[in-house]
Amino acid sequence: MARVHNFNAGPAALPLAALERAQRELLDFEGTGMSIIEHSHRGKAFEGVHDEALSLFRELLAIPDDYHVLFLQGGASHQFAMVPLNLLPPGKSADYVLTGGWSEKAYEEAGRIGTVRVAATTAEGKRYTRIPRQNELSLDPSAAYVHITTNNTLFGTQWHDVPVAGDVPLVADMSSDFLWRPIDVRRYALIYAGAQKNIGPSGVTVVVARKDLVENSRKDIPKIFQYRTHAENNSLYNTPPTFAIYLMRNVLAVAKELGGLPEIERKNRAKAGLLYGTLDELSGFYRAPVERESRSVMNVVFRLPTEELEKRFVAEAAKQGMVGLAGHRVTGGIRVSLYNAVELASVEALVRFMKDFAKQSG
Ligand code: PLP
Repeated sequence: MARVHNFNAGPAALPLAALERAQRELLDFEGTGMSIIEHSHRGKAFEGVHDEALSLFRELLAIPDDYHVLFLQGGASHQFAMVPLNLLPPGKSADYVLTGGWSEKAYEEAGRIGTVRVAATTAEGKRYTRIPRQNELSLDPSAAYVHITTNNTLFGTQWHDVPVAGDVPLVADMSSDFLWRPIDVRRYALIYAGAQKNIGPSGVTVVVARKDLVENSRKDIPKIFQYRTHAENNSLYNTPPTFAIYLMRNVLAVAKELGGLPEIERKNRAKAGLLYGTLDELSGFYRAPVERESRSVMNVVFRLPTEELEKRFVAEAAKQGMVGLAGHRVTGGIRVSLYNAVELASVEALVRFMKDFAKQSG
């Protein structure tokens, strides 16, 4: 079996052991004579998977009891609307920190629902190359919440320190850096993440939300959009994406077996360290536009001297089994996504290729 080095930004690489388990179990789940995707979402077999996924999340992230863990649908984009629908009542305003394309989208969507304010932006034209410092944030102490995007998938920047928001609830889109390292969940009021980068296939969105926030959220919106509905029904209000949740369970089980988030962080830092080190070493050829303190451990972006060379870089890397390296259509350049399931060996292969390519073309 020839597996490629997969550097896609999402959907992205998943741990081989999680996929192999799915392959083994696909036709006959635990001796039931049918696949997990053929089971009722209200039956015992799926209930076991669902509960295990929930408890693995709680264990891996040390999620306190006064937080809900919800499995929802509609992707992170759905949360762009669901957050303000639930948490932004008339007469209040919400603060958004703009650090990339996804936070712009979250801000625009919330603006369709209620009053929003930009608490800080690091936009330079259409580009973003850094995360704002705490003293650049102009926070409204009476805001309903402050929204940040912890990792900016397009521009390769990442918050390394959680901003201090005082008593204002902090809401974070962690789609592209959820579960890359241990975090203090208590610093956040609500976290959401589409699964398709670090934690599973697309189709399921994880929300971790403080129970009191959910309790006090709006009741005058459709039931299906209320966090309360999903919390009261253990995320089984309607049919959940059972296969996506099953696969996510497999990924979380692998994460635990590997030693949990401290070990995952160590691996991730080694991968990013190697790649950024190479970029710095070969800075006469490769150019990393992101400010050093804002560099993302998950998505590494860089440029080559010309777009022509970038195209050749992507094509030649693909010939050597390295895929998913073209930058986002908005930004161009090269983007290397180093999510949890990307092995150090893949980054080592890439770095060897980068050195050869620079030598031949520089
Ligand atoms: N937020 C971030 C940080 C993302 O990287 C993405 C997708 O790449 C999204 C939101 C949108 O996610 P979805 O496609 O699940 O709606």
